[in-house]
Amino acid sequence: MTTSTYSLTWDLDVFFQGGSNSREFQTFLGEIKETLKSFDQQVRDWQPETVLNDPSNFVSILESLQNSNQKLGQAGAFVSCLQAQNTEDTKANELRGSVATLRAQLSTILTNFDDKLTNINDQDWNQLLKVDGINELEFILNERRQKAKEKLSKDQEALINALSVDGYHGWGEMYDSLVSKVKIPFAENGVEKELSVGQAHNKFSNPNREVRKDVFRKWEEAWDDKADLFAATLNHLAGFRLSIYEQRGWDKVLKEPLSYNRMKKETLDTMWQVISDYKQPFVEYLNRKAKMLGVEKLSWYDLDAPVGDVNSHFSFDEGAEFIIKHFGEFGDTLASFTEKAFEDSWIEAEDRAGKRPGGFCTGFPLSSQSRIFMTYSGTPSNVSTLAHELGHAFHSYALRDVHPLKRGYAMNVAETASTFAEMIVADASVKNAKDEKEKLTLLEDKVQRSVALLMNIHARFLFETRFYAERKNGVVSKQRLNELMVEAQKEAYGNGLEEYHPLFWASKLHFFITGVPFYNFPYTFGYLFSLGIYAQALKEGKGYEEKYMALLRDTGSMNVEELAFKHLNVDLTQRDFWEAGVKLCVKDVEEFLEMTK
Ligand SMILES: [Zn+2]
Repeated sequence: MTTSTYSLTWDLDVFFQGGSNSREFQTFLGEIKETLKSFDQQVRDWQPETVLNDPSNFVSILESLQNSNQKLGQAGAFVSCLQAQNTEDTKANELRGSVATLRAQLSTILTNFDDKLTNINDQDWNQLLKVDGINELEFILNERRQKAKEKLSKDQEALINALSVDGYHGWGEMYDSLVSKVKIPFAENGVEKELSVGQAHNKFSNPNREVRKDVFRKWEEAWDDKADLFAATLNHLAGFRLSIYEQRGWDKVLKEPLSYNRMKKETLDTMWQVISDYKQPFVEYLNRKAKMLGVEKLSWYDLDAPVGDVNSHFSFDEGAEFIIKHFGEFGDTLASFTEKAFEDSWIEAEDRAGKRPGGFCTGFPLSSQSRIFMTYSGTPSNVSTLAHELGHAFHSYALRDVHPLKRGYAMNVAETASTFAEMIVADASVKNAKDEKEKLTLLEDKVQRSVALLMNIHARFLFETRFYAERKNGVVSKQRLNELMVEAQKEAYGNGLEEYHPLFWASKLHFFITGVPFYNFPYTFGYLFSLGIYAQALKEGKGYEEKYMALLRDTGSMNVEELAFKHLNVDLTQRDFWEAGVKLCVKDVEEFLEMTK
């Protein structure tokens, strides 16, 4: 047995010693409580009318805000890591509750603060933004005040918040409860079993078409069986959201998601328009894949089917070396940062029972460090997940010297650095494939991802926009939901499939997420945004890293249009940028078509 160079488990003791029983962490929670208490008092005592007489009060409120945010971020990250590394750790679950309570306290304080911001008249406000130490926060302060202005009064918003627990978020939780009751019957080696939703979903990548088809039939039946309940849940959730919008006088359903993602409607429209105009090559890919699988036309349940098999295995050290080497071809800072992350045990990768599934990267703001969580078993896809999460960590690293209040970025740019890092490794893997068969599989992997982001997510967006438009006029029946979904899928997949998934609106969790509305287009935006940057990086070679990091540094303090204009010199409301990104995806498709002629 060879010993590995890099540790497969992470170091959390450097933050708080002793895991979920850490005394140090208990003390820290007490400290946060005190911080919030004095912050609360500070906001209560603050008189916004006199802000110009003594701006130092305002400055110290901002310091408290930053301080509370960072401490809560540190605590939240620690607890997430504890929970993920051992799902049986009940002590960690209790700690999660404590952190959630503190978070709720902070948001109450902030509602009060935001309300006071709206009491400052425009003239004073503009004066205030010129004051030293405040001026650099202009963007985020304007954004904060603007958002507060667009809401109802403090008391009304407080009431909405209170009613949301059961009237809104409750429906999201109801969805989770319903899903946990969905069971899909499945026969394996003559034994009848019942699969959970997650287990059944994995069968869609089974190489045997009969298996996929069979699971899909039963999958549709299982969702249809409870479709009335899912339809009611979705209608209530959407109805609540629309009522709030109406009360606030927001007439466009996209208002909230667009402002959350700091982007313009024109940008979104242009992006989808370009994607729609470039469907044809992807349809050709679907047709080619159909031929390879021996069918006339592909069906929904064939999309994830493998076209070959790769049994390459990389040890953790090999995976690490591969990533560091290829990151190094892009830039020295990325490579040395990554090497240090491995050396300092920032990564929990061990393949053992009792860990949470999936992967994530979380930042410890008070320590300027990140931690990465995943289960590494040596597959090529593990290597790319590892690269993805390291990309997130690098994003935080790039932001480390930026003002803490200017480090908060939205979902659409959150995936920029991660996708970028993944792209470097995916391209290197294709280039380094040991034979044609492996190359094809890796290439198809890339194309599948484009299909997911340019077709699947597009269908979700089309469905959701149309559903909300109809919901404004009343409850939308389950039959109608099915129709809307198939219509959206046909359009998004360029009529490229034989059979669609009408109940996708029920089986896809994302339509039921209440934390962030329209949990779809930011994915596609992030993917293409990152591809556009990647295209520039390829053109400019190794010197690009500095520019790349400068862009990352601004991700928390600008609209995406400004960000793209400043760093990439492109106008996101115009087609060029989006076309360049989509064309990179098309290039993979063309190569795939060429290889499988
Ligand atoms: Zn990610």
